[in-house]
Amino acid sequence: MPSPEGEARESLLRVQPDTLGRANDREKNEASPGSKAREAKHERDTLTNTEIQKVMACLKAAVRELPDPSVTLVGKRWKSPYLVLVSCLLSLRTKDETTLPAAGRLFALAQTPVDMLKLSFRDIERAIYPVGFYRTKARRILDISRVLIKEYQGKVPDTMEALLGLKGVGRKTANLVLVEGFGKPGICVDTHVHRITNRFGYVRTRTPEQTEMALRAKLPPLLWKDINWVLVLWGQNVCRPVSPKCSACPVSARCGKVGVGTRR
Ligand code: SF4
Repeated sequence: MPSPEGEARESLLRVQPDTLGRANDREKNEASPGSKAREAKHERDTLTNTEIQKVMACLKAAVRELPDPSVTLVGKRWKSPYLVLVSCLLSLRTKDETTLPAAGRLFALAQTPVDMLKLSFRDIERAIYPVGFYRTKARRILDISRVLIKEYQGKVPDTMEALLGLKGVGRKTANLVLVEGFGKPGICVDTHVHRITNRFGYVRTRTPEQTEMALRAKLPPLLWKDINWVLVLWGQNVCRPVSPKCSACPVSARCGKVGVGTRR
């Protein structure tokens, strides 16, 4: 008997592809030789802002039955920027199915910097195991809690600059804390957002940092808060790093599939 999550994932594969049209014309043109064809392809591979809004609306509808990514869920369930920050740290290089139970075990012991500092390093380590780099993360959670109490009256700061000043907090985490912890604008670019926006042809970048800057310059602000959780779910389930399921993708007609080799 498939789980509800499994059924939701399967239902993604039943979404009709090419619902945004233009697929057949594009594929015919791809066969044209010479620079004109290359130029035409480049033009086709670049999504306009109207198109990216349609693409995102389509993907948002396609993932609506799936469980939220772990940090989004923590933001909705606990409504605490501190717990969002801690769950971000736990999620680094760790799958959601490991992050969420670990966060739940830790939050059962402490939900504020003051209570966290009442725990020993061993207590935290035991609670969050087996997240990746659990020892380093346990130490970091204690260090950050100490700084928050000393410099920010026990609260998480709500600016990018101050968040980046916390040891172990990079742009990805800072953006996610702003969006999921404070409901402020931010664009969290992880591996999924970087890969998929490049595959769309919406950006042409080499690193997640470049992608964030490119998206900040052109992505309509209305899409900022959704782009991470929608593309994380899409990347985990359909637009996977290797062999994405393009034949089952409802935005296949509008996607440039830039750099996609083998696909299903
Ligand atoms: S690369 Fe394939 S699966 Fe990914 S968004 Fe484009 S069409 Fe969809």
